[in-house]
Amino acid sequence: MTKTDYDAVVIGAGFSGLAILHHLREIGLDTVVVDGADGIGGTWWINRYPGVRTDSEFSYYSFSFSKEVRDEWVWTERYPSGAEVLAYLNFVADRLDLRKDILLGRYVTRAEWDDDTSRWTITFGDGSVFTAKYLVSGMGVLSQPIWPDIPGKDVFQGQLVHAARWPREGIDLAGKRVGLIGLGASGIQITPVVAPEAGEFYVFQRTPNFIVETNNDPVTPEHLAEVRANYDEIFARAASHPFGVDMVPAEHSALEVDPEERERIFESKWNEGGFHFANECFNDLAVNHEASELASEFIRKKIREIVQDPATADLLSPKTYSFNGKRVPTGFRYYDTFNLPHVHLIDTASTPITEFTERGLRVGETEYELDVIIAATGFDAMTGTLTGIDIVGRDGVVLRDKWASGIRSNLGISVNGFPNLLLSLGPQTPYSNLPVPIQLGAQWMARAIDFAEKNELPALEATKESEEWWAQETDRAGKATVMYSEGQKAKAWFFGENVPGKPHEFQVYMGGGQVYQQFCRDAESEGYRSFRAPEFERVPETV
Ligand code: NAP
Repeated sequence: MTKTDYDAVVIGAGFSGLAILHHLREIGLDTVVVDGADGIGGTWWINRYPGVRTDSEFSYYSFSFSKEVRDEWVWTERYPSGAEVLAYLNFVADRLDLRKDILLGRYVTRAEWDDDTSRWTITFGDGSVFTAKYLVSGMGVLSQPIWPDIPGKDVFQGQLVHAARWPREGIDLAGKRVGLIGLGASGIQITPVVAPEAGEFYVFQRTPNFIVETNNDPVTPEHLAEVRANYDEIFARAASHPFGVDMVPAEHSALEVDPEERERIFESKWNEGGFHFANECFNDLAVNHEASELASEFIRKKIREIVQDPATADLLSPKTYSFNGKRVPTGFRYYDTFNLPHVHLIDTASTPITEFTERGLRVGETEYELDVIIAATGFDAMTGTLTGIDIVGRDGVVLRDKWASGIRSNLGISVNGFPNLLLSLGPQTPYSNLPVPIQLGAQWMARAIDFAEKNELPALEATKESEEWWAQETDRAGKATVMYSEGQKAKAWFFGENVPGKPHEFQVYMGGGQVYQQFCRDAESEGYRSFRAPEFERVPETV
């Protein structure tokens, strides 16, 4: 007979699920990972659009906890492709012998807590059920795609695809008329890879982004050996950095150096590429509006230098918000793409897209005839996967309803009213390079469950007080950054601005990964007091 009862059920077989399974096994928990997809890899299984790759370097976009994996896996690119990360995660699953406890093609539709048995009942799409004492979400933070609110989606007779749902068999774009809607990190990676293949490439831009360009170098054997020898130090540096990257936080304000020196620093970090510019130039690009505007002007100048047509360069330059107002994407020759004669930038801020037509897209009076339309229009970030299924806690409260007027959690890990539900990368966890908080979070979770088991706690569950404290701290930390004012202007996902009807609040913790980790350590050293809700231990009304 098929087994259906476990100590822990983990939803999601991506970075989170693999790390959690490994660490829960270490404390002796009978654990199974379930995933609706047909393969291991989570985000990296699903996202296979052209150009998909990491925008953090492999040395800190990976786990440090397994010496076998560190020593045996061979990275080939500084910023690995999606296919390489997917192969890495499969290697992790094989090397740590995780596969035997992972069930694929099992999509969870509902999970309900039962007070009488103190267990979760997890229901799958086919109606089958599992039960577990602990339910852990590793469902990912950017996994619930959203389509543009443009009428006529079903009218279009060509091929319409969301970037996050690229077909496994691929799409033949050779010589085709391709349209792209959406210029966040996804659209910015798609642009330089699809453009050379397409016959005509139309980029429909509503809000331009500030892109930090980079080169992607092959990993030499010497570099790989150096990383392998220093993995622990690299991970420790990334864990102590506000954004989870192995970079040295800058010490000086952009306002305290003279203009020539400022320009020299901007230029040198721009040449190092990617997030080095955002993190290593000055210490106030994320917290001081004037400093952020100086970085904005430097990037606008770079755009003017790279893009030959002045009108196109002007359109590509953000003017309505400043640097850090949106999650900064890394470009792999993004701006250069606009020098190709068959690449057309259409400004849909001044004249919005009115509708899909049978033959393409209408923008004002003009109809653009297209064979393929790519919507890289983003996600219901941080909460979307959790509110997209029915998670039912104590007294029948549904998580979606609890969060309808605002997110409440303790450290993004646990929610009052939802005993023994633990979230990896829940909302209100750090704005960060993600493998770092995933690994630390999985290890924290295993220690917390181990503590709960050894001390026979009835359950791990956020207290109401801890939720209010964390909501206030998340709000305070967010408001201390330029992400607050600029993110609202730029309709950033991290402020919930990209989803109609979503409460406008920080979806992530902006106070720094290292500060967040200290809060987690504090909770641990206090015996998880803020994760021991008294409600759970209530006395029955009748005996
Ligand atoms: P996103 O950043 O939310 O960008 C969505 C884009 O779609 C925006 O440019 C938005 O324009 C546009 N859009 C939405 N509706 C539209 C409409 N009706 N008309 C015109 N444009 C419309 O989404 P994403 O690019 O998928 O990225 C989301 C996050 O995923 C990133 O911030 C990042 O954290 C993660 N990601 C990471 C990587 C990586 O690490 N390698 C790669 C991809 C994604 P407006 O700005 O005008 O609203």
